[in-house]
Amino acid sequence: MHRLSGTGDSALIRRINTAIVLECIRNESPLSRARISERTGLNKATVSSLVSNLIAGGLVSEIGTGESSGGRKPVMLLFNAGAGYAVGIDVGVNYIRGLLTDLAGTPVARRETKIARRSPEDVLPLLHDVIRGLIGDAPASRYGVVGIGIGVSGIVDDGGTILFAPNLNWRNVPLRRLVEERFNLPCVIDNEANAGAAGELRYGAGRGFADQIYVSVGIGIGTGIIINRELYRGKSGFSGELGHMSIAMDGRQCSCGNLGCWELYASEKALIEHGEPYASFEAACAAAESGDGQAVRLLETIGAYLGTGIANIVNVFNPEAVILGNRICIAERFVRDAIEREIERRTQTYNREGMRLLFAELGEHSAVRGAAGYAISRFFDSLNGQGAG
Ligand SMILES: [Zn+2]
Repeated sequence: MHRLSGTGDSALIRRINTAIVLECIRNESPLSRARISERTGLNKATVSSLVSNLIAGGLVSEIGTGESSGGRKPVMLLFNAGAGYAVGIDVGVNYIRGLLTDLAGTPVARRETKIARRSPEDVLPLLHDVIRGLIGDAPASRYGVVGIGIGVSGIVDDGGTILFAPNLNWRNVPLRRLVEERFNLPCVIDNEANAGAAGELRYGAGRGFADQIYVSVGIGIGTGIIINRELYRGKSGFSGELGHMSIAMDGRQCSCGNLGCWELYASEKALIEHGEPYASFEAACAAAESGDGQAVRLLETIGAYLGTGIANIVNVFNPEAVILGNRICIAERFVRDAIEREIERRTQTYNREGMRLLFAELGEHSAVRGAAGYAISRFFDSLNGQGAG
């Protein structure tokens, strides 16, 4: 942790130190003031003063007493996760998934709806219904619903406009502005795979890894690249479009304009091509489970293509972990062997040594948890901007 002292703007230093103390309590609560001082390097008087503000602001409370190593027993501090709530949304190609979480990111309510028609005019009213429902689900609390985070599978600019979502066929949809105007709450929009990566990093399979690549496989593929526990966004925030890396030079036509994109061969799209009864991961897995050899082979082929693309990723990034998430989690038992086989065939031992291939711990909820996490982070940033408490 960084701490600042001495010269400079003392109000700014106080805000930064407040954020450090709050982050420490969010991560390690319950803990004592003395422990915060040890963990942050801030002196005890400073910690006490900042904690008083956080208690006055309703974000922290005191509980009972902790273990003592002799002498006076320390009062323990608890993060008040129920001081506010956040809405997380995942807009998929054929569904909207919504979640209400407390400020610790723990889910308290869920709402989902199917998308039949994909135009923004059709989808936005459904999105508004899901958000309105979740806001209505929030228990009474000091800060109420603090914000909305939304993950969308598409290219999102830093103003929250969906520039292009090939699988929804959306162009230039100013989603953040539309949602903020409707609900009068701050809204954060990001690519679905980035949101999924953030969700697994904070709450799921990625917690123990600094360098990891999250691969979201549904109808299409997106990736979230985490380097040193931070999302790598690239120059304009458009990194991670690995679903459109070319793996077949003269391959099939993709909706992005390219030929032979990875997602055409390694996502649910490859199943849709085959029609019923194989047209989704659920359908293909049900057929495979009942002994349908063609379904087994189709899923193995998808696994082999996934492994081929992941081998490229491993060769580029040498990550500690690759986490497969979104709808592919349904098919883990039918694709895992083929994925591992291709990674082994196509990478150097040096690059994959110790690399973990994992499936998302949050299953299909990585993105929606990550999206709610964005809204929570934005809320704490805004508090710190004003000086918490
Ligand atoms: Zn493409």
